[in-house]
Amino acid sequence: MRIDVTKPYLPDSDAYKNYINQIWESGWLTNGGNLLQKLTTELTTFLGVEDLVLMSNGTIPIQMALFNLANEGDVITTPFSYVATTSSILWQSCKPVFVDIDPKYFTIDELKIEDAITPKTTAILATHVFGNPCNIEVLQEIASRHNLSLIFDAAHCFGVNYRGQSIFNYGDVSTCSFHATKVFHTVEGGAAISTNTELLQKISYNIHFGHKGPYDFFGIGINGKMSELHAAMGLSVLPKMTAVINDRQRIVEQYKTELAELPLGFINIRQGTKWNFSYFPITFETEDRLTKTVSDLNEKYIFPRRYFYPSLNTIHYINGDKMPISEDISSRVLCLPLFFGLDPDDISRICQIIKNSLK
Ligand SMILES: *Cc1c(COP(=O)(O)O)cnc(C)c1O
Repeated sequence: MRIDVTKPYLPDSDAYKNYINQIWESGWLTNGGNLLQKLTTELTTFLGVEDLVLMSNGTIPIQMALFNLANEGDVITTPFSYVATTSSILWQSCKPVFVDIDPKYFTIDELKIEDAITPKTTAILATHVFGNPCNIEVLQEIASRHNLSLIFDAAHCFGVNYRGQSIFNYGDVSTCSFHATKVFHTVEGGAAISTNTELLQKISYNIHFGHKGPYDFFGIGINGKMSELHAAMGLSVLPKMTAVINDRQRIVEQYKTELAELPLGFINIRQGTKWNFSYFPITFETEDRLTKTVSDLNEKYIFPRRYFYPSLNTIHYINGDKMPISEDISSRVLCLPLFFGLDPDDISRICQIIKNSLK
């Protein structure tokens, strides 16, 4: 049986069918239906945030944040993230300006940001990589001193708390992905979360074609709505989230114990964080060692994933400046299988293959 890096969490099908029956009764499929409203309310309570706008995926909120806050300027960003972080900047006619990462936390190196700021800089778009917070306090201080907007790609951060509150409450706006492979999912989906209700209202207009009423327009917009069928999945998954996150913790702890003596690096979670165990990245001493271990695992039908690889500054259509630390870590980092219900015997088997491979 093959084991992939992740496996979507499927809720009890009766719970999902119950919501689907409600859709059949109401005949309402999309456009701000009851299930979307219910999911919005339940998520704000679960996460401890004031408000959020649900969307069709986790990339649209990044684009809408940039649309409102970056003004076609230069955007300081991290090369160590998923491609959507950088491609959204280009898609909004902004220019990505890379700043290398901190090798300990994998997040943007706050000490290198000020050197990259120019009069053209309008925003910082930083990723809380693998749910591990950036140095939020320093980023906030730099952003406010230089009058820059601060956007967090928090795609990996469902359920993460930092310093006693939701990580989504920091910065001007945070974005999250509810893609099937993420900790919490709605099949496809995402959200913009902010304590700035005025900004959230604008973003909400933006994803409804700019509609302010049936015949009235706030401004230009696109279609980024979440449907009732997607909200139904979210409502079915949400009650299981505490169990899902606890189970992920069990898996991470077993990996850490069984891999402890090997020449591998583990992620350092920043102090003050209640983490969500969203990924289990390990770093090898060299790319060759990584490649060998990956092929040994693949031979046994185990498919970890090189997250994040390649470093985004090296993608051909981006062609950014050299980022030595991000390029180095990208070449040596591997995310191991991590999903609800992963069997302890399978974890031991994966660890044993890695052990043998590193001999
Ligand atoms: C998954 C992900 C996204 C995109 O989210 P989608 O819901 O797939 O559009 C953006 N940024 C990061 C860091 C991601 O991991």
